[in-house]
Amino acid sequence: MKITGIGVRTFRYMSTTGRDSEGHSHPAPPHEALQGLITIQTDEGAEGYAFGRIAEGTLQGAIRPVLLGQDPLYRERIWQGLRQRQRLNLSTLADSVVALVDMALWDLTGRILGQPVFKLLGGYRARVPAYASTMCGDDLAGGLDTPDAYARFALWCRDQGYPAFKLHTWQPPMPGAPDVRRDLAACAAVREAVGDDMVLMLDPYHYYSREEALILGRGLEKLGFAWMEEPMDEHSMSSYVWLTQALDLPICGPETAEGKMQVRAEWAKHNAVDLLRGGVGDVGGITPLMKVVHLAEAFGMSMEVHGGGPGNLHVLCAMGIPGAFYERGLLHPAIDYEEPPPWLNQITDPMDARGNVHASHAPGLGWDINFDYIEQHHIAAY
Ligand code: MG
Repeated sequence: MKITGIGVRTFRYMSTTGRDSEGHSHPAPPHEALQGLITIQTDEGAEGYAFGRIAEGTLQGAIRPVLLGQDPLYRERIWQGLRQRQRLNLSTLADSVVALVDMALWDLTGRILGQPVFKLLGGYRARVPAYASTMCGDDLAGGLDTPDAYARFALWCRDQGYPAFKLHTWQPPMPGAPDVRRDLAACAAVREAVGDDMVLMLDPYHYYSREEALILGRGLEKLGFAWMEEPMDEHSMSSYVWLTQALDLPICGPETAEGKMQVRAEWAKHNAVDLLRGGVGDVGGITPLMKVVHLAEAFGMSMEVHGGGPGNLHVLCAMGIPGAFYERGLLHPAIDYEEPPPWLNQITDPMDARGNVHASHAPGLGWDINFDYIEQHHIAAY
């Protein structure tokens, strides 16, 4: 079997979220937005899919030369080929772009073999406990505008079945942000509201100083939080060694630091974090994320997978390391997360009343695609 094509079909939809000037998403008035369906075709008719955007020049100049004519089951070889082309081209062939190609290849493999991806990766479980991952703080009435608003939303999430709740607090350009005392006030209000049984985590402003991160961490220790992630610039690994030594609170990372599994190996070796972190979009796909999983296991570390979506969910269901959560969200009081996006007939991460998210047992990554919607809202294909 050979890969005969990889293409992107862009289409429009009405979005109810928007990004602020720092890139954080918030609820927004309905507006037109673009999405892309990535399709890999073979000479035997099988196809694999992923959703996201790849620029036409990147597809033509960097991705097609690596994929076309290859056996699609040689995923490692294809991934290594893409990785080699990233040198001097990271601005266009980013890890988030390589991740889309890798996910479509895994989806294709599952469809060819008639198995869900998590079983091909090494099945360990079919469901994972979720944590409610909030959007960043805002200034919207009825939103996440005060410590009490977080407390009310945490109670609502607990009623939905979530065993755990993670705050993303106020970050620039929100007025008054960042502010360690306000972050701690929100965390204290949530703990006070939900009691001692709910697992709580914090993801604060990512550019706090060492001293600010230490004050925050000591406050979270008193509140019994499970972890804190990325309170400082991750380009300074030494700052994380310093913070992890100073705190009993588990520190989780790295999340946004470039360097795939190699940079995570350095952080593990230098004891820069307690919980290793990575997501498909951060490290370049399912293929390298499984390497991070095995790295964490070899160091005797727990790992928390960053972000939602079927790629991360299927990796979580193939991990033999206990204690990991699925990051479900981003959630907000004004957003209905259970409503599928218009290009899917159902969401990819359904959660039961006990707060477990179930991986699809359908072949591949379990996309249930509304091809009619994509056809009707088609903009371009290349
Ligand atoms: Mg994070």
